[in-house]
Amino acid sequence: MTYVIAQPCVDLKDRACVEECPVDCIYEGKRMLYIHPDECVDCGACEPVCPVEAIFYEDDTPEEWKDYYDANVGFFSELGSPGGAAKMGVIDADAPLVAALPPQEHDE
Ligand code: SF4
Ligand code: SF4
Repeated sequence: MTYVIAQPCVDLKDRACVEECPVDCIYEGKRMLYIHPDECVDCGACEPVCPVEAIFYEDDTPEEWKDYYDANVGFFSELGSPGGAAKMGVIDADAPLVAALPPQEHDE
């Protein structure tokens, strides 16, 4: 099991979750952040700090955003398991479903 980041993060990326993660497994893509499914230890620390409620426990991901499980997992298909997001910086990629979205507007 893992936590999953869904659509509300797209084009927002305020990184509040990154500060909370004890294992540095939340990686930054071009338009959103992605949780590494194998590196995540399911501690849940990231979920309550997200200002737009983009983070869900895998089984609790809303139906409309179920595809984001595969988006998070697929993001790492080429990266493998880097063992830490900080050293990676911003990764010049996004899951195809994210890359295909029109610009997302946020009130903040
Ligand atoms: S659940 Fe814990 S380990 Fe997993 S991404 Fe969130 S803060 Fe990191
Ligand atoms: S806290 Fe939420 S909006 Fe901010 S980067 Fe993390 S998932 Fe994205």
